Amino acid sequence: RELTVDLGDRSYPIYIGEGLLHRAAELFAKHGVSLKSPLMIVSDANVADTYLGPLEEQLRSAGYLTVSITVPSGESSKSLSVFESVITKALEAGLDRHSTIVALGGGVVGDLAGYAAAAYMRGIRFIQIPTTILAHDSSVGGKVAVNHPLAKNIIGAFHQPEIVLYDLQTLQTLPGREVRSGLAEVIKHGLIWDAGFVSWIEENMAKLLSLDPESLGYALYKGCSVKAEVVSKDEREQDLRAILNLGHTIGHALEAVAGYGELTHGEAIAIGMVGSARIGVELGAPEEVYEVTRRLFISCGLPVGIPAHYDTDAIMSAMMRDKKFKEGRMVFVVPTAIGRVEIDKNMSADLVRRTVEQLK
Ligand code: NAD
Ligand code: ZN
Repeated sequence: RELTVDLGDRSYPIYIGEGLLHRAAELFAKHGVSLKSPLMIVSDANVADTYLGPLEEQLRSAGYLTVSITVPSGESSKSLSVFESVITKALEAGLDRHSTIVALGGGVVGDLAGYAAAAYMRGIRFIQIPTTILAHDSSVGGKVAVNHPLAKNIIGAFHQPEIVLYDLQTLQTLPGREVRSGLAEVIKHGLIWDAGFVSWIEENMAKLLSLDPESLGYALYKGCSVKAEVVSKDEREQDLRAILNLGHTIGHALEAVAGYGELTHGEAIAIGMVGSARIGVELGAPEEVYEVTRRLFISCGLPVGIPAHYDTDAIMSAMMRDKKFKEGRMVFVVPTAIGRVEIDKNMSADLVRRTVEQLK
């Protein structure tokens, strides 16, 4: 399957299919990746174990000058210090303005490598090879960032990839927890955009959890389509793109309070989406919005409540630091129906606080 992210003045393809990793050299060439300038692959320890060697070999035999850097697995690699080590590697390897940085891995590697590509020499080319389900979201749309200990994704840029190459076969080695976590973003794409897709997910949850290639391919195609459509309409998050943050205001705060890594991103936003659905119902959405949302996450094996030992004050202050908090008001994505959300630019922090308490 192939999709296009159309940004008006430029566009890029998303390839989704089985065995695409073996066609990387061919697709790189098709999209003009230079043979003359060094190319750098960024991956993490888990991913590198299985997928880095074959990719390097293939690119080298096609004539590419490749260097690789493998960072530790996990959210802690989205830091300024790991970012610096990526830049150091790029300098040592002599990457120039025509070089490409390739992200081979999940959202952590994608965000880190993407930010390095955005910053190195004020921006060089960048290719996403996502290897997690979650990364169907992070690899499309061009938001790249690293974390600060006080706030997630706060140091970043918009930097679109040249291509996204999504090989479904790589997903077969994902641990169960990462499968469930990634499905949280798939569900999000249904909840914000497409009630029919939400029903399809409910019916096919067991197949998705068992990584049935056919169902997974369809779900990721649909998820990427929603993301691509939203980003095409509003690349820089002037308005519409903010709907992609459903569940993320609470979710990011939970991640920050938990210390990055205790909750996966998908787990945190699943709880956040349940909270947002609760708020939606408080503000007039039909009760089923909450019920369906909660049921979906339970059937996916994701958490739907906040662990009792998380401090509400700490969660609220983390939320205030989040960039979605502007001019004394909280911007919050509120579900109004299944498949529909609204951006509330004047959300009451009190209501959010009460909801956080209820989720415990
Ligand atoms: P991740 O990159 O840490 O991957 C999860 C785990 O799976 C890691 O331990 C990794 O080593 C391992 N792994 C990856 N691919 C594997 C494979 N094929 N087989 C076996 N193990 C594999 O996390 P993630 O969930 O992919 O991404 C989360 C990050 O994405 C968060 O930092 C989040 O903020 C970011 N994100 C960014 C955007 C965006 O628009 N830029 C959107 C959503 C999420
Ligand atoms: Zn997310």
